[in-house]
Amino acid sequence: MERVFAYVIVGGGVAAGYAALEFTKRGVSHAQLCIISEEPVAPYERPTLSKKFPPARLPSFHTCVGANEELLTPTWYEEHGIELVLGTRVESVDVGQKTLLTASGETIRYETLIIATGAKALKLEEFGVKGSEAENVCYLRDLADADRLVNVMQSCTGGNAVVIGGGYIAMECAASLVINKINVTMVFPEAHCMPRLFTPKIASYYEDYYQSKGVKFIRGTILSSFEFDSNGKVTAVNLRDGSQIPVDMVVVGIGIRPNTSLFEGQLTMEKGGIKVNGKLQTSNDSVYAVGDVAVFPVDLCGRIRRLEHVDSARKTAKHVAAVIMEPDKTGEFEYLPLLYSKAFSFSWRFYGDNAGEVVHFGDYLGTKFGAYWINNGHLVGSFLEGGTEDEFEAIANAAQLKPAVDDLAEVGRQGLNFAMTG
Ligand code: FAD
Repeated sequence: MERVFAYVIVGGGVAAGYAALEFTKRGVSHAQLCIISEEPVAPYERPTLSKKFPPARLPSFHTCVGANEELLTPTWYEEHGIELVLGTRVESVDVGQKTLLTASGETIRYETLIIATGAKALKLEEFGVKGSEAENVCYLRDLADADRLVNVMQSCTGGNAVVIGGGYIAMECAASLVINKINVTMVFPEAHCMPRLFTPKIASYYEDYYQSKGVKFIRGTILSSFEFDSNGKVTAVNLRDGSQIPVDMVVVGIGIRPNTSLFEGQLTMEKGGIKVNGKLQTSNDSVYAVGDVAVFPVDLCGRIRRLEHVDSARKTAKHVAAVIMEPDKTGEFEYLPLLYSKAFSFSWRFYGDNAGEVVHFGDYLGTKFGAYWINNGHLVGSFLEGGTEDEFEAIANAAQLKPAVDDLAEVGRQGLNFAMTG
């Protein structure tokens, strides 16, 4: 059996949902668009999975509620004539023939393909540690992972968890576990949490708070192996520094790898992702890529980047639908990178690029503080914890406009006002 669609999206995550909404806004006809997803549910707002345990239940967090747009339930796709093929892995794609083959044996032909396959969690085995399959070792990328993590957590209330990794998902998971009365130890090789973005000063603010909630930090070392009981359950983690921590559960958040394998050897890859131009078009004219898998030019940063952030997934997805549906009216994708995170009562956003020198501002003993990154005499990045919508908008504008800065100390003195009055 073979079906033909004008537009096919492979992958049914955040980007697929936002692309679908934009396709309908731009007049896609019934039966023109098909989304094929390995996940058994319609696209949802993936960030919800780590903000609290247990996370909200579907259908409340289908896309596109995260951007205050419509809630796209399975009925919405039906009403808009969008074919949603769920629980179905795409096994292979032939970009020359414009066909793809699904795990159920169906061949689907497309005129235009959008790759939105996202990424998968890196496994411990890739770093030489065995034990990912143990019943109390958890990862967190999709709804099934979240359900599993919550079940494990609920089976060990009052117990001990080790969270491996110090990125924002690990930090969010640690907070959600603590709120559920689990004793948490975080282990990561760097000197502080969120090393790719946070300065030591920003990191120590959050780490101090986490410590006040009972979280222990073991920095500068990595997991070397697990101890198992006779049922294959992990009972302790062994660290490279020789120490051992008894555990009831382990959460692993050590990064992701983009799902590019369907296209290796067929499309140009760079920086571990699928390279696209300013129209989000790959090295094949009929194929586009969006979200976590895409490496695209970010003019504001002066280089190509692959971003693993929900805002970039949403906006690349919306843009690609515009490019495809209204090519003459749609220009290149212009993007101001945004990463946000929420844990405990914290809420921070970072806009732009974290290159150059850092100027901290605000009250690092209170609840509102931030930082600017100044590179080659211009503000290029801005971070704010605890801002109002207006304040976040102001720091976004500052990172977008890149004002000249010749006196770093003065910018530090002005602090948030520098962005608010700029
Ligand atoms: P995804 O949403 O991962 O979707 C990819 C889809 O493709 C999945 O459904 C997958 O099953 C499917 N797929 C892959 N291969 C195939 C195949 N061969 N056949 C069929 N289907 C396939 N970002 C932030 O900025 N802030 C946050 O606070 C934040 N929190 C997060 C919390 C968690 C727990 C996670 C996991 C991510 C978080 N993110 C956050 C990142 C954000 O969710 C991602 O950037 C976003 O989901 C990327 O969207 P995407 O559509 O590219 O990929």
